[in-house]
Amino acid sequence: MPESTLMAQIPEPVRAICRRLRETGKRAWIVGGCVRDLLRGAFVADYDICTDALPEQTMRAFPKVVPTGIEHGTVSVLWKGVAYEVTTLRGETTYSDGRRPDAVVFHDDITADLARRDFTVNAIALDPLDGAIIDPFEGRRDLEARVIRAVGDARARFAEDGLRVLRAARFVATLGAALDPATEAAIGPSLDTYRKVSPERVRDEWLKTMKAKAPSRAFDVMLRTGVLGVSCPELAEGAGCAQGPGHAYDVWGHSTATMDACEGDAVLRLAALLLDVGKPRARAPGPGPGEYDFAGHDRVGAELCDEILRRLRFSNEERERAVAIVRHHLPGYDETWSDADVRRWVRRVGRERLDDLCRVARADALATGRPCERELSLVARLEARSRAALAAGDPLSTKELAVNGRDLMAALAMPPGRQVGELLERLLEAAIDDPALNERGRLLERARALYETGAPPAGA
Ligand code: ATP
Ligand code: MG
Repeated sequence: MPESTLMAQIPEPVRAICRRLRETGKRAWIVGGCVRDLLRGAFVADYDICTDALPEQTMRAFPKVVPTGIEHGTVSVLWKGVAYEVTTLRGETTYSDGRRPDAVVFHDDITADLARRDFTVNAIALDPLDGAIIDPFEGRRDLEARVIRAVGDARARFAEDGLRVLRAARFVATLGAALDPATEAAIGPSLDTYRKVSPERVRDEWLKTMKAKAPSRAFDVMLRTGVLGVSCPELAEGAGCAQGPGHAYDVWGHSTATMDACEGDAVLRLAALLLDVGKPRARAPGPGPGEYDFAGHDRVGAELCDEILRRLRFSNEERERAVAIVRHHLPGYDETWSDADVRRWVRRVGRERLDDLCRVARADALATGRPCERELSLVARLEARSRAALAAGDPLSTKELAVNGRDLMAALAMPPGRQVGELLERLLEAAIDDPALNERGRLLERARALYETGAPPAGA
């Protein structure tokens, strides 16, 4: 990008903050991810400003400041209601726990501040007032060549902070880059430091990785360097797990391709990655030579998905959603399904999961490495029929019946208790078979017949 266009991207408040610091006799730069993303013409979410002013000096220079991370030298300057982080230049210190520096040393050398950063592409500073770029580690060259390279000695840098190996994998995917061989070779020997990284930080990196066009690039790095074996050995089991003659890919290849093909938010793409996580453990010999049977992998996979997402501290809501997707990812739909079969399926998976399941089913079909028109048209058909059932307002849960528990108790002189719920369930079964039954008089009549004959409850 020409320099003038690049400078024009920088928001005025960022420039104004740097100008104000300059007026106090100090220097200021934008630095790190924002410079990287500006240079490659990508959207910049937030601007990090660094300065040789000490935190107290920065605080005195602006009317509204909040000491958001004062122990690291960061203060937030409020400019027209928006917060901008301004951090005092820091230098290298020792890291004895593989997680955070033992002490923070402030100083006035921008090059030393850049030297403590992880990768060359993240170690560029730009003065937004005159456009001067400070790039002591040739980050611009690596950005153009799309190479992720550690600043300085990769092994030493990975030993300081175990998260960096995961960031390396992430940037390979989000920047569509290659990993410098010496940087990659340093990951294996750094896994003991990586083991100390908190599961929350791993989770956050995984979620950020999912924003890449092809997150598989990151997961392939994690697999071949052993990072994945530390955080998610269950997924690593898919590598080399053959699926039999009709399949172009092993379980790993198919799973990562499904994630790449899946259109949706980060959690949905993660669920797509985990769809077949149960396959290696559920795999049994199939009918013919070299064939396999994966019956039950949806159930095994749902259990593993639950364990994995607990371990990585995903929220209950995220975990439950992904588990349901893995559990129900095989509708087994074909054109012999009746409308009642379609309604039963929507009821089983839950209407709120319909969109997720159709999205992963499309991705699953696209990721086989074979023609998939037939599979895609079946997904489209199931989706259209499910939506039609929802639009018709057919009852799909007991709450949508034209009677409730209280109605049943009054009409049948039933005592409160489990039986009331069971009877509602059986009325729902009947109404799913025949939606015309969902009318108060007809439901009460059916309820009376069921209650008086004392027939065994549905599903028994
Ligand atoms: P993104 O914002 O897209 O997640 P980023 O590179 O901007 O990526 P941030 O966490 O915002 O990441 O960090 C800003 C900058 O701080 C980075 O560009 C890098 O220079 C430095 N940095 C962040 N995390 C580390 C780390 N673990 N080790 C060394 N430097 C880091
Ligand atoms: Mg950033």
